[in-house]
Parts: sequence; C-alpha cells; structure tokens
Amino acid sequence: MTPPALSLASASHGPAGASAPADSPLLQVRGVSLDYTTGNTVVRATHQVDFNVFQADRFVLLGPSGCGKSTLLKAIAGFHPTSQGEIALAGERVAEPGPDRIVVFQEFDQLPPWKTVLQNVMFPLRASRTLGRKEAEERARHYLAKVGLSAFADAYPHTLSGGMKQRVAIARALAMQPKVLLMDEPFAALDALTRRKMQEELLALWDDIHFTLLFVTHSIEEALVVGNRILLLSPHPGRVRAEINAHQFGLHSQGGAEFQSTAQRIHRLLFDTPAPDAQGAADAAPAVDVPGRVRLAAV
Ligand code: ADP
Ligand code: MG
Repeated sequence: MTPPALSLASASHGPAGASAPADSPLLQVRGVSLDYTTGNTVVRATHQVDFNVFQADRFVLLGPSGCGKSTLLKAIAGFHPTSQGEIALAGERVAEPGPDRIVVFQEFDQLPPWKTVLQNVMFPLRASRTLGRKEAEERARHYLAKVGLSAFADAYPHTLSGGMKQRVAIARALAMQPKVLLMDEPFAALDALTRRKMQEELLALWDDIHFTLLFVTHSIEEALVVGNRILLLSPHPGRVRAEINAHQFGLHSQGGAEFQSTAQRIHRLLFDTPAPDAQGAADAAPAVDVPGRVRLAAV
C-alpha cells in the first residue's frame, strides 16, 4: 500500500480545498454504516449515518456509550473501512489516514514518554515531512505557546498533569494545521474542574484560530458547551436521531433556563423515544428529513 501522507499533505495546502465554494461542506458523511467482523459475527456500530461539517464548525457527535462515536471518528480518520456509504473531505473520498485529519484521544498515554513536550509536538510535522527541522520547531513552539506550555517545552510527559498532557496533544494536533481536528472524549478522564478549564481553553483556541472541530462526547452538557452543532446518535447501532443548533450556548450559559431545557430535551431525544425502526410510518412527519432524523433548527 502506498503511504498517503504526501498526496494528502499537498492536498491540504493546495488549491483544491481553497477553491471549493465557501458554503459547501468540508466533511461529508453519507449513509455511512460501520461494522466489526469477528469470525462469523458482524457487529454493526453505526447504521446509515449522514451529516455535513462546514469550515470552522464545532460539530459534536453525542450519544450513549457503544453507539459508534469512536468508530465513526476512526472511519473519518481513515482507520476503519465503511461497509456502506462514503466519507469525503474537501471533496476527496477518505480511504486511508492522512495528516489533514488528526485525532486527539482521551488517553493520557498518547504522547511517547521518551520524547520531550517539544519533540512530541514536532514529531508528526517531521514524520509527515510537512516541515523541515527549523520550521517544525518554530511551528511547535508557536502552538505550545497557544496552549500555555512554552515553559514546559523540555519537560517529559510523565512530569505533566493529565490536563497538561491533553494540552500537548492539542498543540501537536493543531500544529499539523489539519483540515479537521478530531477529538474523541478528550477530557473524559479529567477531574470536573480541569475538564471545565479545558473546555474553556478549547473554546478560546477556537476563537483565536477558527479551526474545524469534530468532537465526540457522551456528556450532554459538554456537547452544549463545546458545540455549535450537535448530532444526536441513538443507542447501538448508532443512527442519526436529531441535529441540534447549539450556537447560542457557551461556557457561561450552563446554569441558564434555556441551557437546562435543551439539555432535558436532548436527554428525551436520546433515551425516551423508541428507536426509529419501532416508530413506524407515523414518524415520517414533515420535520423528518431522513429516516429517524428530526431536524431542530433551534431549541
Ligand atoms: P462509542 O465510542 O460510542 O462508545 P464504539 O465506536 O467504541 O462506541 O463502539 C460501537 C460498537 O462497536 C459497540 O457496540 C462496540 O461493542 C463495538 N465495537 C467497538 N470496537 C470493537 C471491536 N474492536 N470489535 C468488535 N466490536 C467492537
Ligand atoms: Mg468511544
């Protein structure tokens, strides 16, 4: 298999993405079903999922554990094949991993422990031949400053707190200037206060850089704080249940009545309604634009 890095790396800085119309989706997920096959058994993780992510969206995939969020992210990253449907980034079909899609995971051990913070952030820039050594170091220091870790450039990961490790992982991902930053429950293993702080910092970074974010969480509150658009996925196998416009919420709306009522509404949509298959034809009401999907412009 030929390594994808060069073609994708050049595509990410080339004219193809730049010439796409501003209102066309950056990431398109079309009827995507994802399966795991073990021996004779096939486990369906997601079923015919559709969504579009636009430039500078903070798009959240929200659903209960086991509904296929991580599998969807893996498929978008190019690590998991689609059984049905297609994924396209800037008009090009996603078939394998590439430096235009970088993932930040939940686990604190995603940083090689034998590399310093600076070396960790530089590593993908060098390994993908995106930049030469000097430029890679400059870029890495720039993004370390953005996450407030300039003073820790020469530290090793084991000397850092969980929150600091996640900041390094975010700096490393942003330094690659991916077309889309993929985050899989990145703050789920942090204590509540640190988690809140990291959500704040992520939003401040987005205010600064306006990167495109695809963020996975099972927390309704986190989805409302982080996202401008939220896709609700039903329990296993994950199907799209609704898409919610959440741009009006932010860090400081959490105690507010509108935030609380939306959180409750999401909870009902996720857990109280029967699965789309069991709902029958009555659900093909005007609000439903794809099977089982309720589009809520504003809630
Ligand atoms: P989520 O991230 O929403 O918790 P996952 O994408 O991890 O969900 O998993 C979706 C479904 O796929 C689950 O039912 C899980 O049991 C199944 N699954 C995940 N990974 C594997 C695997 N490696 N082999 C078989 N089944 C898997
Ligand atoms: Mg997961």
